Amino acid sequence: TVEISGLVKNFGAFQALKSIDLSIGDGEFVVMVGPSGCGKSTLLRAIAGLEMPDDGMIMVGDRDVTFEEPADRGVAMVFQNYALYPHMTVAGNMGFGLKMAGIAKDAIADAVQRASDILSIGDHLHKQPKALSGGQKQRVAIGRAITRQPKVFLFDEPLSNLDAALRTRMRVELGRLHNELNATMIYVTHDQTEAMTMADRIVVLSSGAIEQVGSPRDLYNRPGNLFVAGFLGSPK
Ligand code: ATP
Ligand code: MG
Repeated sequence: TVEISGLVKNFGAFQALKSIDLSIGDGEFVVMVGPSGCGKSTLLRAIAGLEMPDDGMIMVGDRDVTFEEPADRGVAMVFQNYALYPHMTVAGNMGFGLKMAGIAKDAIADAVQRASDILSIGDHLHKQPKALSGGQKQRVAIGRAITRQPKVFLFDEPLSNLDAALRTRMRVELGRLHNELNATMIYVTHDQTEAMTMADRIVVLSSGAIEQVGSPRDLYNRPGNLFVAGFLGSPK
């Protein structure tokens, strides 16, 4: 579970998150949508420990992680631009988190092998990131998250740099991954199809606050505002 309560993040005088309350169940796939600048990435980064909140609390499972280091939170984040280490091989990238955590070499190699099997990138393990296609890079970024066996995956528009065909394939693969790992996933996207097909629940953010929460069906049938209606509502 992820329990977010009263979460506030300010950038100077600007309030990017205005007391967010959100409760996410074990194994749930939550998709977060909302207009550009509404605070989606800020919320993910706060959960990941990359932004310190000004107020509020974040629990992962039964642990209060609000002030814990990113690596200790049991969460792993996948970024839109992959954020791979350019000077490391694919295998090095995927095992880096485990290496930093002091895990033994053999165990790292096993974890990298397992993740690369799941993502079909076994042929590329000794390449540098610059020798990979966009889709392959994104698989490596996802593989890097998987090897750490997080309880919670955070995805910030992970497929938005891929072409339409690959996006469709990766969408299916991520759905499969979710089932296989039985992990909790919080997934930010601007893509209506991703939101409608992947989400157990959709969270709509607007100007740093939660505007509406519901199943894709709920939001489709009863969009709470014009953004939701335009994004995924039925034509009325
Ligand atoms: P997008 O869909 O474009 O990615 P977003 O919903 O992810 O948008 P955020 O990146 O969370 O939006 O930004 C929310 C608001 O906080 C924006 O107005 C942004 O300008 C502001 N903001 C984010 N990071 C900082 C920062 N480090 N310093 C100052 N303002 C910031
Ligand atoms: Mg963003």
